[in-house]
Amino acid sequence: MMTCAEAARLMSNRLNHPLGIRARLALRLHLMLCVGCRRYARQLMFIREWLRSSANRDLHCEGYETMHLDPIARDRILSHLRELRSCDGPNGNGRHDR
Ligand SMILES: [Zn+2]
Repeated sequence: MMTCAEAARLMSNRLNHPLGIRARLALRLHLMLCVGCRRYARQLMFIREWLRSSANRDLHCEGYETMHLDPIARDRILSHLRELRSCDGPNGNGRHDR
């Protein structure tokens, strides 16, 4: 089974490029078995949808309040997004290490 780090990398990659059939199946299997990565996948989907819906709005939009996401996770995601907007990345070097 793939590691959580590999699964996270694939989940990030698939936001920009479709995955091949083997990677898709391996990721699907991993997500069926790993609750942490399922949670991470939901957070990525939330971020993607939120960014789409707020592309022309400020970070303090009202729309995210209606989405069903754990408030702690929502605050963590918003904090991370603010970091990304305010600098080149969380480490200031353009890389987004986790
Ligand atoms: Zn995992």
